[in-house]
Amino acid sequence: MDVCLRCVLRIGGITDYGAYATAARKSADTVEEIVQEAKKPKTTNDCSETCPSCLGLLQDETLTEIASKINEHVQGKDYDYDSFTLAVYLPLSLLVRQHSLLLTKSSDAVKKDEIVVSTKDAVRWSLGPMLEELLNAPYKPHSDLLIAVYIVHPDCSRDLEFLAPYSKSKSVDGLTIGAVELGLKSIADHEFKQMFPCPPICPQVPCYVEEISCSYSSVYIAGRYNKYSRTLSQTPWVLDGMRKTESSIQEMICDKLQARLKASGVKFSSSGREDVDVRMLGSGRPFVAEFVDPHRSKVSQQELCVLQKEINESTDAVAVRDLQLIKKEETSQLKEGEDAKRKTYSALIWSETPVTESDLAMLSGLKDVTLLQRTPLRVLHRRTLFTRPRTIFSMSATPAQGDDHHFKLTLTTQAGTYIKEFVHGDMGRTQPNLKTLLNGRDVDILLLDVQSIDINWPPPIENDQVKDHSF
Ligand SMILES: [Zn+2]
Repeated sequence: MDVCLRCVLRIGGITDYGAYATAARKSADTVEEIVQEAKKPKTTNDCSETCPSCLGLLQDETLTEIASKINEHVQGKDYDYDSFTLAVYLPLSLLVRQHSLLLTKSSDAVKKDEIVVSTKDAVRWSLGPMLEELLNAPYKPHSDLLIAVYIVHPDCSRDLEFLAPYSKSKSVDGLTIGAVELGLKSIADHEFKQMFPCPPICPQVPCYVEEISCSYSSVYIAGRYNKYSRTLSQTPWVLDGMRKTESSIQEMICDKLQARLKASGVKFSSSGREDVDVRMLGSGRPFVAEFVDPHRSKVSQQELCVLQKEINESTDAVAVRDLQLIKKEETSQLKEGEDAKRKTYSALIWSETPVTESDLAMLSGLKDVTLLQRTPLRVLHRRTLFTRPRTIFSMSATPAQGDDHHFKLTLTTQAGTYIKEFVHGDMGRTQPNLKTLLNGRDVDILLLDVQSIDINWPPPIENDQVKDHSF
């Protein structure tokens, strides 16, 4: 029985991976000979038969074909890469064939699977150098460019049939690597030999590539945004397949960046979010945008500054600052200790009866008021019903321009405080509320702005001009 030279190396436990790059097919009979053969210089390259152990996968012509298909695929994707890594998915029948081969050649020198180099490693070691040459970039264990190759063989199901009872679904299709390994361990050697040919039979055709897919590590861009519109949602607002708003903060910020990075998708997240009718003023709200599968991932800080300027010039509704590349690990900063952070709001309040100076002074004198807020009615459909204690650290009430039925309330609160509900009481679900603090007087909130979010991240990049947007 002939196995290919790379399988000879594999089964001999040769881990000198340079040998795999240059190996060619050769035959041998016993494992001892196999190992001896493998250590000799290689000269022959007889590829007339398909190797019964690796289903031809490790033979030169199959490897060359796989490498050329991968190269074609990667070039077609036009990625901006400087290295690559490889994930190889192999037919499960290779495990069975290896088991069969080892049983055939078993002797004291071979302790079955223990010293064998896996087909997967052998593929990486053989294919890696070929691809390095074709793609003109080094193969690394970790790289931003991940190439996944799915190898199949038409005989796979037939080879695995006897292991079907080990699958959860009792069918070959439901078999996993774990189930195959468990099956092979559970079946006694003499029983195995009755169920599967030992040595394994040479297949008619070699295995082939079913699919190749590539993906590039996401690029993460952080920044802070201001929102000056009271009709803009943070993310695209789609209801029953129809857009409810023309644009969104996410699109206004990310569209240009996505086009520059040639990314296939965007995931936008921020430290909390304001309602559609609430403006975000002050130094802005920190956000992170993840750009998925970017084809042009290399972007300089200088370029980001230019893009930031373009974004800001394209709209009056949104402004961005401090745009910067961040590492994936840094994205957690956005949500870290979110509840402990302070936020400052300003609200324009209407009062049923005229407000006096002493009303305003009373409110301004309140410190560290603890509210008990039941989940507001307006968000009840997407949040669990719960009573949250939240603190208003300080308040300042000042007369508003116009008449004495209006005043401006500035509040510094614990993040997560529902301000609108604090003002109108939400049918008594927030206690105390502004109405109870003003002895039952009817009050309502007309306008709300977020003035500041107390998170010192991401770090400032440049000093932007802060526009005055007070009421
Ligand atoms: Zn082989």
